[in-house]
Amino acid sequence: VPGDLHDRLAALVHDVPDYPQPGVTFKDITPLLADAQAFALTVEHLVERADTPIDLVVGMEARGFILGAPVAVGLGAGFVPVRKEGKLPRATLSGAYDLEYGSAVLEVHPDTIPDGSRILVVDDVLATGGTAAATVELLESAGGVVVGLAFLMELTALGGRARLAGRELDVLLSY
Ligand code: AMP
Repeated sequence: VPGDLHDRLAALVHDVPDYPQPGVTFKDITPLLADAQAFALTVEHLVERADTPIDLVVGMEARGFILGAPVAVGLGAGFVPVRKEGKLPRATLSGAYDLEYGSAVLEVHPDTIPDGSRILVVDDVLATGGTAAATVELLESAGGVVVGLAFLMELTALGGRARLAGRELDVLLSY
């Protein structure tokens, strides 16, 4: 990302110390989303850098929905939500993954993913990579082909990139 764009976007990501728990610095993107130009530039860059053609954009609950949906429209792709357990109303495929304390389950409606679909996964933050890695596994077990993952930002110290080794990664901001 060009330096001036990087700085503009970065200035609209607010650090919230000790949220949601002590020791975590939460990256709040709501000021960026509320800025019409910054939001549009973010979406444009994610669209431009995608490895087209893309059939489906997948966003993870919840901020992956906000970024993923306009990226899907920009790419002429469909949008598929990956949700937390119990939120999708029809038959789901699910995958469990480990969190720092305990585990969580992600779900998708598999009939929204035709076999061989070329998928771009979009989320706001790549941290440990646990969510993204579990999402890739879920989508590929549903018959999709994940051709890339795109994030607004990466928290490099948490090592998410290593868990996605061999995958095409696009990151606009790195911390
Ligand atoms: P991880 O599975 O550790 O890569 O965490 C990624 C998911 O948690 C993403 O969906 C992010 O939205 C959220 N997340 C993790 N760390 C942060 C953070 N420091 N600030 C904001 N969101 C975060």
